[in-house]
Parts: sequence; structure tokens; C-alpha cells
Amino acid sequence: MKLKKLSTLLLPFMLVAQLYGQELRPEAFDLIDLNKPGMEKTRSLIQEKRFSEAAVALLDYYRTRTGINHPEVDLDKVKISAEEQKWADDGLKHLFFVHKGYQPSYFYGEDINWEYWPVQDNELRWQLHRHKWWIPMGKAYRLSGDEKYAGEWTKQYIDWIIKNPLLTPTKEEKASMSGEMLKKLDNVRYAWRPLEVSNRLQDQTALFMYFVDSQYFTPEFLTEFLVNYHRHAARVMGNYSQQGNHLLFEAQRMIYAGTFFPEFRDAETWRKSGIAILNDEIKTQVYDDGFQYELDPHYHLASINIFIKGIEIADVNGYKKEFPASYLETVEKMIMAVINYSFPNYQNPCFSDAKLDFKPEMLKSYKRWAKIFPRNKQILYMASEGKKGELPSYLSNRLAKSGFYVFRNGWKEDATVMVLKAGPPAFWHNQPDNGTFELYVNGRNFFPDAGSYVYAGSAEVNKERDWFRQTMVHKTLTLNNANIEQTDSKCLLWEIGNDTEKLVVENQSYADLKHRRTVFFVDKSFFVIVDEAAGKATGDVAVHYQLSEGKVSVNTEKLKVSTLYTDNNNMLVQGFGGKETRLAEEEGWVSYAYRQKNERPAFSFRTQKNNSEPVRFITVIYPVSKKSPCISAKFSSKSMEDNQVGVVLKINKKKYELQAKW
Ligand code: MG
Repeated sequence: MKLKKLSTLLLPFMLVAQLYGQELRPEAFDLIDLNKPGMEKTRSLIQEKRFSEAAVALLDYYRTRTGINHPEVDLDKVKISAEEQKWADDGLKHLFFVHKGYQPSYFYGEDINWEYWPVQDNELRWQLHRHKWWIPMGKAYRLSGDEKYAGEWTKQYIDWIIKNPLLTPTKEEKASMSGEMLKKLDNVRYAWRPLEVSNRLQDQTALFMYFVDSQYFTPEFLTEFLVNYHRHAARVMGNYSQQGNHLLFEAQRMIYAGTFFPEFRDAETWRKSGIAILNDEIKTQVYDDGFQYELDPHYHLASINIFIKGIEIADVNGYKKEFPASYLETVEKMIMAVINYSFPNYQNPCFSDAKLDFKPEMLKSYKRWAKIFPRNKQILYMASEGKKGELPSYLSNRLAKSGFYVFRNGWKEDATVMVLKAGPPAFWHNQPDNGTFELYVNGRNFFPDAGSYVYAGSAEVNKERDWFRQTMVHKTLTLNNANIEQTDSKCLLWEIGNDTEKLVVENQSYADLKHRRTVFFVDKSFFVIVDEAAGKATGDVAVHYQLSEGKVSVNTEKLKVSTLYTDNNNMLVQGFGGKETRLAEEEGWVSYAYRQKNERPAFSFRTQKNNSEPVRFITVIYPVSKKSPCISAKFSSKSMEDNQVGVVLKINKKKYELQAKW
């Protein structure tokens, strides 16, 4: 083994390529348990050292094997969308569909350059190695019977193996490597990152089904495939990510590997490893309120589907009992969290690195979930768009541990729903945005989150990412426009059910400045937000707001901003503070999808904090159908009182005495 690895490292690159030509790889037979039923012929041919014939027998076995089911591929019901057909046809021309954020697809060369990196965004480099255009090619092949798809796929498959060797040199070996080899070594970080490897493990189960009957799927190719597949699973086994959604993805895909290819001697180990990780991680990564601990609606949703995929493939192949009942109960709770935080148009708040998911995709998810949880009437309601099932019995409802607070006056399109985020610390995908919110009223999300725009890469890419994740582009309070230093909110009050509902959350946003935010959902129709900042810190304290795309009118004197939509569905935001409080317009962008952004209005109410005295603001957020009301507001409590916040408010002639006490 050691000798082989060394030779792989030291031979010139072209020689490595020859090692991986499409030729018989007898070591594939060592990886398979030849004592399995159906392997008799292969086994006896191997015993006679008739390897070519053994490979033919093995391929015959795989083409006719029964009893292995794939939860997502039914060869009698293959469908391809116009988009997938394009990806398949582009794939033939080496215009590889790598990432939706980078369209049209780049050309990777007649002689494919797997290290081509036109924009230094890590995702573009990593995701090339997910080969997303291959499944479309498989579908196109299956539907058309055109061997050009299979021929090109097998060629690309082998080409990828040749040009992306998995180098794992020791320190000494690395020290003696040439520039070209060092470049290849750097490429390993992208081509062999466990997340990408696991992605390929999963997709190759489907690809195997689509292509195995092709004339290009030769007995020799089968041995290449098996050796490569085994190497993939071994790579993940030995290099699981430490935590988070990556670990979940990897574990789920090891279940795929072990279940779909039970002929491998290591298959049971792979399957059991994946199941054990999912069983453990579902307890660690999901808070008892049902939300995934990265605090990102997109990865929450992804995690649900990971847990479901894990159990689905186990179920259709007879291993469901390896998951305890509590596993499915947790998944169900996670789905209920989605229902809770979703707006009536099925869309999600774009907190953290979330992208916007639209109703058609969400309906597909709900329909899939309804099959797994047929007795859950709320899931059925969502899946059937209200034609069956029942609405949840609650309106406003929080996810206490993860810190999502939902104010809601209904479930239909004309409802008002605010989702406020003020949770515990989380990691990479989470943003420093405690206290921020999105607010949907009557069919419009007036305060969408800025989103994330891009993940990571070169300094230039990171700069764009940093813009979208900074605190000051969220609806919360900053000191000198700086990012908050700590994201660990505590809830002081959550009082719902009365005419006016109340929330008080507090975060030690900066070492010397604590932010306390109180939200009143008055008459379940409009909002009054009180922001108080206390501590030794001095500087420019601001409360930021950003609106949906569209024109606004700004009245700096009255600290008033109004949207100007022409459909009688508008929003008035008015600030009240001390005499020195001013309104400042700010740069505003919103991103609903990767590498897409729109300009939008943004502004802040700000004041100078000159000493250790607290500063505070009142903001009234008032939906307007026709005529804007005349609003006044003032405090009826002292600054940062220990156990209460009070506001006296007048809307036209109606007076409100708002008080939150805890
Ligand atoms: Mg954000």
C-alpha cells in the first residue's frame, strides 16, 4: 500500500494518468464480498484468475441485481426539465453547469481543465467537483437512449480521475515535490473536500442506475468505477467534518453508499457510521424547539432533508429500524418550526446565509414531508395549500432556544407576520444581527433581510460577503456602525395572547454597550419598537432599517420614511427620540439568491452618546392602506429601567399606553 502511494506521488504526472486509463482494475475484486449471493460466477472466475471474464460476470450481476432500491430514482418515471436538458447538452460541450450564481456556464476546455477558476469564489472551485451536469446527462441518456451522453460521461468520469489524484504526501514527500505536483496537491483541497466527495458518493448511486446498461459502461469501466467509489467512501470515513451541516451531509451520503452498494466489504461499516452520526447529531444540532443550531433558515431546511434522505434510503432497503422513533419526532418538530417561521406566501426570512425559497419548491418539500408524517394535519394543510388538514392552533409563537420570535395575526395571504431573530451564539453561516427582523404585511415583505450574496474566496469576494453580513445592514442597533461583538441574546419577556403582544430581548452587543429591544405588536396590527443602549461606551449609536425595493418618501425633519407602492399596501416608519436624534439615509442592497442583488432604501435613526447615560429610540412601524396617520410617541418609563419599558403613543386621536413589565 505504502509503495503504491509513493509511486503515485513520485511518478511524473502523465504516468499517473496511465495508471487510471479505462482498463481492468483487478483490485476492485478485493473490495467486494464475493461470498454474497449472486456472486458465484464472478468468484469462481476470479479463483481461476480469469479476471476479464470475472469483470463481465460482475457487470452482469450489477445489471440484473434486484432488491436494492433508490428512494429518488425510478427508472420507469425519469423526468427531465428543460433546464436540466440544457445542462446535459452543455455538458457534452464542456460548458459545465457548476453554480447558479455564475451563468452562463464557463467553458472548461476541449481537454478539460479541472483547475480552471474564472472567479476566485471558493464555491465555484469546490462545486465544479460536484459534477452537477452529470445527473442531467444520465436522465437525458435514459430518456433518449442516445449513447453520446453515456460515452461522454464515461470519458469525463475517467478524465476527472486522471487529473484529480488524491495526493496525501508526508512532510518529507511534500518537501521534495515539484511546482506542478504542488499545484496538484493544492487542487486536492477542492476536488477532495469531504463535502464534495460525499456529494459525488450520493450522485453516483443515481448515475450508476442511469448508465449501467450503456455499451460504454464496460466491464473495465465497472472496475474503475468501483475502485473510485470505494476510495471516495474511504476518504469521507477518515475525514468527516467536525460539525454543522457538512457533517450531516457527509453522514447521510455514507448511508447512501453503504446501502446502495452493499456488495462492498466495507458497506455495513459505512452505513452504520452514517446512521450513528445522524442519530447523534440530530440530538446535538437541533435545539429542543426544533431549529438547527446554525440559525440559518436555509441550512435548517437542508438539515431536515438530510435527516429525511438518510431514513428514506434506509427504509426502502430495510434498515429503518436502525433509527430510533425519537429521530422522526425531531424531524417532525423541525418541520413545524418551518411552518412557524414561514410567511403566508411560503417564503422564508433570509437571515444568515439563507437564500429565498419560493412556494413551488416549498410545496414539493411539504408534499414529501406529508407522506412521511401522514398524521400531521398542519403539514398536510401546507402541502395541500389549505385544501386538507388543519392550520396550527396558534398564531404568535416563538422558538425559545434558537431565539426566533414570530408575531402573527393570521395564516392567510393578508396576515401580518414579523419574525425577529435574537438567539444564542452560532457559527460560520450565522450573522452578527441579533435583534433584526423581517416583516410581511398583506402579501408584501416590507423588510427583507439583506441576505448573504456570496460565501468566501479571494479578498475581493470576501469584501462583498462582509458587506451583506455586517450588522449595520440589519434592522438593529449599532455603535459607530461597527459589527456587534457578541451574539447571545436573552429574552426578558414574551407575552402573547392579549390585544397587544410584547417581547423584550437583550444582547451585550459590545463590551461596553448593552442593547435592549422591546417590541409591541399593538392591536395585532402595527409595531412599536423601543431600543435602549446602555453602558460606558460613547459614540454614534444608530438603529438601522432597510425596506423592500421601491421608491420611498423621506422626511428628515419628522424622522419619517414611507413606501410609495401604488397598490394601497404601504409602510410608514417613524422615529422618536431626543432632540438630537436624526435620520440618515444609508446604502441599501438586498440579495435573495447567490450573486444577485437589488438596490433598496435604507436609513437609520441616530444619536450621539457622549457619556455613560443610556440612549434610546422609539420606532413606530405602521402599515398604511390609504392615508398616513399622524403619530406621536414618548417614553413613560425611565431609561433602561430594570423591569419595565413604557411608551405613550397617539395615532391620530387614539391614545395607547404601552407597557412591558417583567
Ligand atoms: Mg442577514
